[in-house]
Amino acid sequence: MERTFIAIKPDGVQRGLIAEIISRFERKGFKLVAIKIVVPSKGFAQKHYYDLKERPFFNGLCNFLSSGPAVAMVWEGEGVIKYGRKLIGATDPQKSEPGTIRGDLAVVVGRNIIHGSDGPETAKDEINLWLKPEELT
Ligand code: ATP
Ligand code: MG
Repeated sequence: MERTFIAIKPDGVQRGLIAEIISRFERKGFKLVAIKIVVPSKGFAQKHYYDLKERPFFNGLCNFLSSGPAVAMVWEGEGVIKYGRKLIGATDPQKSEPGTIRGDLAVVVGRNIIHGSDGPETAKDEINLWLKPEELT
């Protein structure tokens, strides 16, 4: 069955949005198959966002992701990669529709509270980067 990697970023954890976010994925009908709290190191954040290394905001983004506890999760279900991105909303919360996680709960692009894999290859890579095989059910 299809799986995706979802992370609640440090701002989402700090703001007390863990239950709210998990609940939206659960109510949709997706299945939580792995979850843990981690404080990513800066080097780890750089690996996670490697594709964005040339962007001007890369350093700030990696500092932010490594600034505190994040929740790393794997969710499973038919179409979960694409639909998970739909639940999350557009990258910039100003452009996210109301009803989406970022649309309802975030304001600025640098503090958009949640990450979701953007395709089957990234989903596989990110699950392998963030979780050990024995942490997956
Ligand atoms: P994510 O990968 O976190 O799920 P995304 O796939 O919607 O987000 P990406 O293009 O992969 O968007 O960008 C990764 C992250 O980089 C964004 O979530 C956002 O926090 C940050 N980011 C993207 N564009 C900008 C920008 N113009 N200024 C500051 N931060 C940005
Ligand atoms: Mg992305």
